[in-house]
Amino acid sequence: MPLEVLERAASDMTNWHDADGKPSGMGVMEMSHRGKAFGSIVQHAEAGLRSLLAVPEAFHILFMQGGGLGQNAIVPMNLCGPDSGKPAVDFVLTGSWSQKSWLEAAKYSQSHIAASTQESGFHHIPEPASWQLSPGARYVHICSNETIHGVEFHTLPDLRALGSDAPLVVDFSSHVASRPVDWSRVGLAFAGAQKNLGPAGLTLVVVRDDLLGAALDICPSAFNFKNIADNASLFNTPPTYGIYIAGLVFDWLERQGGIAAIEARNRGKAALLYQAIDASDLYSNPVEPACRSRMNIPFFLREPALESAFLQGAEQAGLLQLKGHKSVGGLRASIYNAMPLEGVQALVAFMRSFERTRA
Ligand code: PMP
Repeated sequence: MPLEVLERAASDMTNWHDADGKPSGMGVMEMSHRGKAFGSIVQHAEAGLRSLLAVPEAFHILFMQGGGLGQNAIVPMNLCGPDSGKPAVDFVLTGSWSQKSWLEAAKYSQSHIAASTQESGFHHIPEPASWQLSPGARYVHICSNETIHGVEFHTLPDLRALGSDAPLVVDFSSHVASRPVDWSRVGLAFAGAQKNLGPAGLTLVVVRDDLLGAALDICPSAFNFKNIADNASLFNTPPTYGIYIAGLVFDWLERQGGIAAIEARNRGKAALLYQAIDASDLYSNPVEPACRSRMNIPFFLREPALESAFLQGAEQAGLLQLKGHKSVGGLRASIYNAMPLEGVQALVAFMRSFERTRA
């Protein structure tokens, strides 16, 4: 989280002030979601995201609950109806998160693997021209940044150029708002907020108009995208505090110079860390350079036995949460938007000094 956002939230904690500085007499957590004050907060967050990511008018911005994993069920329940019967849905498996989406969707669809890099260890993005797309698929799902394996789509696939008119569904949970999005290639994108947008508990869905209204009967009303769109994210009580914080985060991103400036900063941070890894004899990153994530950088020590000493030393230097995901081991630096360049510089300096002491 950007410190400025946390400080602003702290100063508003017991008495929220509107844009003109007028106090409301209560904190955001105490407001009715149907009141005027919260109405302005949700509108501000939506407008902030629309402007930041240049979301076209043809898309609805929905603030929901359920997290990224919830969307693995909510998306097929919304796109695989209205008739029962399981339509085909295509998945491109590039790591753990797209794999989880594929498994969950099998409850509601015939989920088909159009391409997978599992056999080679999830270290690259398969060339879109090689994808085996199903004719008439309801949608094609990708995870545009694999948080665990550190693999990122740097360009979204153009399904039309591949001869498909299926909408592209994108799980952009772990790099949302870190770079621009080419909405002309997207039908729906979803993200848990907890990486780049705000606190856990808020889920963002950006969905194109024409995809609404195709939910299965079993889809819970509170997770039906049409209900949420028709009620401007107030069909039921949304995660109000998360929406408020996300609005502050969007303001902060604009103050940083907007999405182009954020992307440039993220490129610089990632390049610094990858260069340090590639130049060393101790550290390595297995991902093909063209698909390396700018947000989640897994790396491994030549001698895995040194990992605990690395983590201990890092913690003493104030560098926290560097342990790799348990499913792949090793180390991982998640350098989300709010991580300043200085944080990456400090990590690189520590890595160099650790390597010198082990030479
Ligand atoms: N998708 C991606 C890309 C993720 O990184 C995560 C969480 N790390 C999820 C989905 C699952 O999100 P949640 O924990 O909000 O259900």
